[in-house]
Amino acid sequence: MTTSTYSTTSAIARARQALLEERRKLQEGELAELAVLPDTSTISLAALAHEVRLAWCGETVELEGILSTKTGGCPEDCAFCGQSARFPSPVKATPLLDAGQVLKAARETAALGASDFCIVLALRGPTERILSRILELVPIVTKETGLHVNVSAGILTREQARRLADGGVHRYNHNIETARSFFPNVVTTHTWEERATTCQYVIEAGMELCCGALLGMGESDAQRLELIGQLAELDPAEVPVNFLDPRPGTPLSERPMIAALEAIRWIALFRLGLPGVILRYAGGREITLRDLQALGMVSGINALIVGNYLTTMGRDPGEDLAMLEDLKMPIGAISGVI
Ligand code: SF4
Repeated sequence: MTTSTYSTTSAIARARQALLEERRKLQEGELAELAVLPDTSTISLAALAHEVRLAWCGETVELEGILSTKTGGCPEDCAFCGQSARFPSPVKATPLLDAGQVLKAARETAALGASDFCIVLALRGPTERILSRILELVPIVTKETGLHVNVSAGILTREQARRLADGGVHRYNHNIETARSFFPNVVTTHTWEERATTCQYVIEAGMELCCGALLGMGESDAQRLELIGQLAELDPAEVPVNFLDPRPGTPLSERPMIAALEAIRWIALFRLGLPGVILRYAGGREITLRDLQALGMVSGINALIVGNYLTTMGRDPGEDLAMLEDLKMPIGAISGVI
């Protein structure tokens, strides 16, 4: 056995011992040790991540549909986002969709066997008018479809979080996107701390927190590990993993995409660093992973966004359903896994 094969085997064996036998989370140094393993170890890492997902979360896969209910025209300057009004992006601002349009999309989501539907609005945070509209929509969608209704509407005050929780919102999405140390490189109109505070208000109010990552913006491996540690502290129920799909007109439009095998490695590392979360395939997975999408499902992923994303097209939901059928993975709701 070569020295490098030996160190790979022993690092993975130590992680297995911790996560599956001692049933404890990895310490920062233990995860860092896995992150420097060579590409040839990726499949072994992925295999462990899949075992960890089964042991900590079970075999169920959660499906969610999302609807951009207010698109574009956002005053913020997130460098990865085609919905910012500050960049010459082809995404045009549209007014809030009406209840009929939202219900139609929610019914289509329910027909796929999904458990969750997320109403997403591109804005810094909700005005009173928008919050009231969301609070009207949530019970309508819940009653008509039986789906868990989730919301993503930017930065909240403590009071707004409480009102959304009281109004029946199951899970609130607020992505932290990247490590605190890298965040100012991609957003200047609000801070990482403002996002983290909203995440705290969501949990305090009694909603499940969905807090996602976007990989491939130029952050280092050390910053990806930093992000996993910061996510662990924020304690979300769900972590959607997005891969940068460079949007025309944005400052990141020319950034190269993450390689498929690198994406698999980081999916596995997210699972090993956050063993109990709902780890969801989100934006950019089709163009980043291509034929490796099924491999991601056995590398730690246990949830998918099905259908289209906010401003980009996803693949046909039938292909995702067929993939899950081939993998013999049951579909259902997962809640309060941690
Ligand atoms: S706050 Fe959200 S919608 Fe607005 S630019 Fe940033 S990521 Fe895009």
